[in-house]
Amino acid sequence: MKIQSVGVIGAGTMGIGLAQTLAQTGHQVTLIDVADRVLERAEAEIRKNLRLQNFFPDFANQSETKLSTEDVLNLIQFSTDYYQLEKAEFIIENATEKWDIKREIYHKIDDICPSETIFAANTSAISITRFGSVTQRPDHVLGMHFMNPVPIKPMVEIIRGYHTSEATIQSAETLLAQMGKDSIVVNDSPGFITNRVMMLTINEAIFTLQEQVATVSEIDRLFKGCFGHKMGPLETADLIGLDTILYSIDVLYESFNDDKYRPCPLLKKMVDAGLHGCKSNQGFYTYVKGQKMS
Ligand code: NAD
Repeated sequence: MKIQSVGVIGAGTMGIGLAQTLAQTGHQVTLIDVADRVLERAEAEIRKNLRLQNFFPDFANQSETKLSTEDVLNLIQFSTDYYQLEKAEFIIENATEKWDIKREIYHKIDDICPSETIFAANTSAISITRFGSVTQRPDHVLGMHFMNPVPIKPMVEIIRGYHTSEATIQSAETLLAQMGKDSIVVNDSPGFITNRVMMLTINEAIFTLQEQVATVSEIDRLFKGCFGHKMGPLETADLIGLDTILYSIDVLYESFNDDKYRPCPLLKKMVDAGLHGCKSNQGFYTYVKGQKMS
């Protein structure tokens, strides 16, 4: 059955891309964040992305309907009021990767939304079973790990929590098909497949930089030239957000109690200094209006 209305919580890097893609594929979206100024920035960002897509149609997703910018924006309701989620059939949560923040959100939406509403956590590393445990509907909770930037990444990692029902997995697959995305279902484990491997790689690349084994661009060029990767690990870290990388590696460290996930001190220092990557215009590289300068 077609899913029509989707709630998106968190209007940061991922929430913006998700709200845009959902609206472009004809869904009614309610985008929630904590402050009006964040939502105003999200709306401006979506408008800018749609304008760019008009210039570079190759970046458009095949399933997108040919809606005008205004039609797409009219499908998105921007709000700080969680009660606007009451009628959503499906909710995708993309708030900051901190358990205390996310736990409060799940308590709140569990109270507000009818028992049949599905909750999907777009987390980088936190266990999906843990999200289910703070709701009265663990069978209706799953992980949907979208890739960044959402409008152009074709694959999504679906995570089955301990209590997630098969019907919930099927609904997620239906929604992703409507969005023109492919998916692979994996079992619950912190970081799942992609981030358990990717976060460790990025963290180790930062260690090599800290130890001055090579420069930023040399490290990235090695991965592109030797392995055919489209981006090196430090460029990828900037794209994901260094704060999100640190929170995720902290979750892996705490979840596995394994020293191999200890965050690199240079990563911690950069996050403390406000160097969060593309979204703050400075990470391992410098960015002006989203374009890499050096
Ligand atoms: P971000 O920092 O860009 O955005 C997070 C947003 O959450 C902010 O706008 C913040 O105001 C909002 N927020 C905080 N508390 C909230 C609350 N109580 N209610 C509503 N909104 C709240 O982070 P992001 O990169 O968009 O990541 C969001 C989630 O997606 C994280 O869990 C992250 O691990 C995951 N994720 C990120 C990437 C990536 O490449 N950045 C990829 C996959 C998954």
